[in-house]
Amino acid sequence: MVDLKSQYQKIKPAVDKAINEVIESAQFINGPEVKAFQSDMESYLGVNHVIPCANGTDALQISLMALGLKPGDEVITPSFTFIATTEVIALLGLKPVFVDVDKDTMCIDATKIEAAITDKTRAIVPVHLYGQAAEMEEIIRIAHKHKLFVVEDNAQAIGSDYNCVDGMQKTGTLGDIGCTSFFPSKNLGCYGDGGAIFTNNDELAAKMRMIVNHGQSKRYYHDIVGVNSRLDSVQAAVLRIKLRELDNYIAARRKVADYYDNFFAKYDGVKTPVRGTHSKHVFHQYTLTLEGIDRDALNAFLATKDVPSMIYYPVPAHKQEMFSAFGSAATELPVTDWLCERVLSLPIHTEMEDDQLEYICSSIAEFLDANS
Ligand SMILES: *Cc1c(COP(=O)(O)O)cnc(C)c1O
Repeated sequence: MVDLKSQYQKIKPAVDKAINEVIESAQFINGPEVKAFQSDMESYLGVNHVIPCANGTDALQISLMALGLKPGDEVITPSFTFIATTEVIALLGLKPVFVDVDKDTMCIDATKIEAAITDKTRAIVPVHLYGQAAEMEEIIRIAHKHKLFVVEDNAQAIGSDYNCVDGMQKTGTLGDIGCTSFFPSKNLGCYGDGGAIFTNNDELAAKMRMIVNHGQSKRYYHDIVGVNSRLDSVQAAVLRIKLRELDNYIAARRKVADYYDNFFAKYDGVKTPVRGTHSKHVFHQYTLTLEGIDRDALNAFLATKDVPSMIYYPVPAHKQEMFSAFGSAATELPVTDWLCERVLSLPIHTEMEDDQLEYICSSIAEFLDANS
């Protein structure tokens, strides 16, 4: 699905040098590389505060911890997402309230949010799934009207541009807080675990800086209950180099997406990813929706051809056993259920060659032609 080895070969001298410098300096935690990455990221995103942390799941958890919510408060979120988005809500004693997604963008359906708002609702956590931004202007409008916080799960859409009334902004900087993950296979991935939180709100930033560091205000004075969540200096050094490449990486992914789009245009029943009109799809995944085609048979056939393909996600959050206490399996999310049975993600990464794309597409064509 990804080719991190070839990607590394192209930046190897810079990365090896940067990692060695961290080792020589022996400043493995909170070293100058972490501060430098933080500031590079703030400039790239055009945001006032970037708070590095240990992973994307922590980023989401710390964001929600900073909002001062009470147990039983409700958080609106899609069910069609990676489990981390929804898991942290329950972990903090909050209640996830699942809202269906839009069939085209596969992100939370903004037209269905207001019906899910109660007097306990405190926040909305939209997910920019697969690299496609959710409808942020509408979500923020609803949030303002009902005095709710917006925490963007931007783990799959780092670097995406969103065209709003105020001009172009990066996803993850539109809501009160944005979160990302630097898991190696993400669009901006490090060589281990990593994550970051973004905000323009000085107060929330100050609180989250305390939370990531055991709730500490000054050394050995702990004002609030926090966690230990740090990005280490080696990862920060790698990320500084890869951040310079991020726009090129996005361009490479979009080129692969264009190739697939052109190839699948002639196949009825193969719906290619819809690109939102207000945002730039950064193609963390290239995900087809298959109608009248046996998705699981195609998935199995591709495995016999050594073509990786993945189902993100086979079981939506609201049907996961972990949420059985909330009775959420009874929530009606017809589009989410429908998509879970029909989506298939194809290999997409920054190093794909034309001959690889040709092989993947001809393998899929072989299946589709034999089964139509
Ligand atoms: C990867 C991911 C996360 C979690 O990030 P980790 O760094 O693995 O903890 C959260 N949400 C979404 C949508 C993701 O894709």
